[in-house]
Amino acid sequence: MTSLQIDHKHPYNFGAGPAKIPKVVLQKASEDLMNFRGTGLGIGELSHRSDEFLELLEEIRSNLRELMNIPKEYHILFCTGGATNQFSMIPMNFLGEKRTADFIINGIWSKKALEEAKKFGNAQCIASSADNGFRTIPKDFNFSEAPSYVYFNSNETIYGNQFQSEPISPFPLICDASSDILSREIDVSKYAMIFAGAQKNLGIAGVTLIIMHEQFFNSIRKEDIPFSLPTLQSYETYVKDNSLYNTPPVFCIYFLGEILHWIKTKGGVRSLESANREKADLIYKILDASSLYKPYVDKNARSMVNITFTLSSETLEKELLTAASQNGFLGIQGHRTVGGFRISLYNSITREETEALADFLKDFSNGR
Ligand code: PMP
Repeated sequence: MTSLQIDHKHPYNFGAGPAKIPKVVLQKASEDLMNFRGTGLGIGELSHRSDEFLELLEEIRSNLRELMNIPKEYHILFCTGGATNQFSMIPMNFLGEKRTADFIINGIWSKKALEEAKKFGNAQCIASSADNGFRTIPKDFNFSEAPSYVYFNSNETIYGNQFQSEPISPFPLICDASSDILSREIDVSKYAMIFAGAQKNLGIAGVTLIIMHEQFFNSIRKEDIPFSLPTLQSYETYVKDNSLYNTPPVFCIYFLGEILHWIKTKGGVRSLESANREKADLIYKILDASSLYKPYVDKNARSMVNITFTLSSETLEKELLTAASQNGFLGIQGHRTVGGFRISLYNSITREETEALADFLKDFSNGR
């Protein structure tokens, strides 16, 4: 067994989310909690109507546009209620009695979104990989005649599959990018809407980022919606009031801003993407080389950020889990609905941490 230098106060955190946060960001946030940019007020005490916060919001939008290359026609909104709230907010705004939405199902998160949408209108699955236990990405989309939107989840956090590129859709495309936003480059102009909860690559839970094309926003047809939308469930509120209709999660938004600064110091998304690919390769290589490990997802659908695998018996899985936690590798137990293991390699996980885990997995399998 490799002798690892574990500081148990700072274990290796490979959890799926809330996930590891870079230490420099935590350090900076702890300072800003006391005194934000020389105001003498902590970030949690600052009015969301203050010039400083309004400036911060604009700075965050501008950094997001730069890092993700977001065209000016896109609104950037900040909502609450987690990514899950979008599962209902999207159909509430874009469905209605006469409209249809198409869903591509690659696991639990898109299934939940579909079930929620069905409460508000005609929503249907047009492709699914459920038959093979979500080991692949669905293909052969059988689009409806004129759906308001086509919905997919770019990275399935629980099963560990990932679209290698966005599905080609002639209709407005909505993506739940909660677990892979900013981990790789995407062409935003191909999407009508992208949303992501913050607690993986965008900081801490509490804010959901929405990137929405103005044309898609303008396609909301109030006359089709059979009820008056609650104010906070209407995208119009966020667009009209600069995401400040009510008190936003000031600290979470601030934190997202700090993460963006950190991403810039790391050379931006392209550079993180290549680091992420290398990290994922390190782990998959160990898994593929050993008969002990059984990667869950087919090779061409594997996620770069959530790596899932099982072992041949429950006893061995328990042994691995115990050995991992004794060596400070935390958060690698698979989601309760799938079992096995899941290693999450978001932007904040370093190559050194990944190498330490790869060495540990190799040693564990060599001993058996
Ligand atoms: N979508 C995806 C892909 C997720 O991974 C998660 C949670 N991990 C959610 C949606 C739900 O997010 P939240 O808990 O913020 O509502």
